[in-house]
Amino acid sequence: MRTLIALIACSIVAATASAADPGITPSAKNSAPKPIESIRPHAAGAASAGSASASASVPEKSGPPVRASAMSERAREEQAEADLSAKIAARLAIMRANQAARVAQQAKAKKAAAAAAAVVAAAPKVYSNHWSYEGENGPANWGRINPEWAKCGIGNRQSPIDIRDGMKVDLEQITFDYKPSSFNVTDNGHTVQVMVSGGNFITVANRMYELIQFHFHRPSEERINGKGYEMVVHLVHKDAEGHLAVLALLLERGKPQPTIQTVWNNLPLEKFDTMAPSIVLDPMDLIPARRDYYTYMGSLTTPPCSEGVLWLVMKEPVQASPAQMALFSRLYPLNARPVQPSSGRIVKESN
Ligand SMILES: [Zn+2]
Repeated sequence: MRTLIALIACSIVAATASAADPGITPSAKNSAPKPIESIRPHAAGAASAGSASASASVPEKSGPPVRASAMSERAREEQAEADLSAKIAARLAIMRANQAARVAQQAKAKKAAAAAAAVVAAAPKVYSNHWSYEGENGPANWGRINPEWAKCGIGNRQSPIDIRDGMKVDLEQITFDYKPSSFNVTDNGHTVQVMVSGGNFITVANRMYELIQFHFHRPSEERINGKGYEMVVHLVHKDAEGHLAVLALLLERGKPQPTIQTVWNNLPLEKFDTMAPSIVLDPMDLIPARRDYYTYMGSLTTPPCSEGVLWLVMKEPVQASPAQMALFSRLYPLNARPVQPSSGRIVKESN
């Protein structure tokens, strides 16, 4: 009978403990010790009730042998109860230890996951450097492709612009100090670009800029009072402090242009290849006779669209032959950024 009660008590303890087992929350952990305390008095109560009924059924008056036998039986029962309590306590201790180990393991895993997430967050995100003149990577999206190109999207000093309502003033003449120079030609995937050796300068607004390279766009990026041109040449200059000045030469159909022909003659056969001929080229041969110009502050017309670029757009177009134009159009039928808002910028022009 008592063994049965003890077994029931034991199974209640086991059931309660195993029910608490899956829980790893602090409340579940706190509730774990409760069963042993709540069961123990219950087991003790059952035992004392048992003793009471035993004493009732076996009165003390009955004589020493019966008493001795009852005593020894009670001692055995007490011993059995003590053993059972010890077993329950040991079992609970093991379960609690297992639970603590699980909690520790899960905390460790959580910490490792957090550390891994921190590493991922700290790692620099790799952005695309691919841009084009049409489609998904076209001008409307340049600012979103790479954070370093944000100006392409949000800048308010962007190029090109439709040049109109210029302030006619006595603009200082641009001084050209160009000379025959060695050069190389690259098709860089966006245009044909001609790198020129050092020593070619322009001076404007008391600042001296050195020619670095020139390249082509089709159609012209600039518009003059809404009118576009078939092509444009951009001559990119830099001063000693890194300020950029771009001289734009608008191209119209007419007679062949010798310097452009020299460039076409030395086009590399493959994109991204560079051709470095042994001849020289004089950039001065590109410059029109009349030197009037428009000027305004703008940006690079390709990513990263950096602003603070001084633009000098020559008023007189330069002629190139239809065949010369057609040759470029086979490589780049369209490589012009659309006009950007002028946002109230001042445009000055030679009187
Ligand atoms: Zn350009």
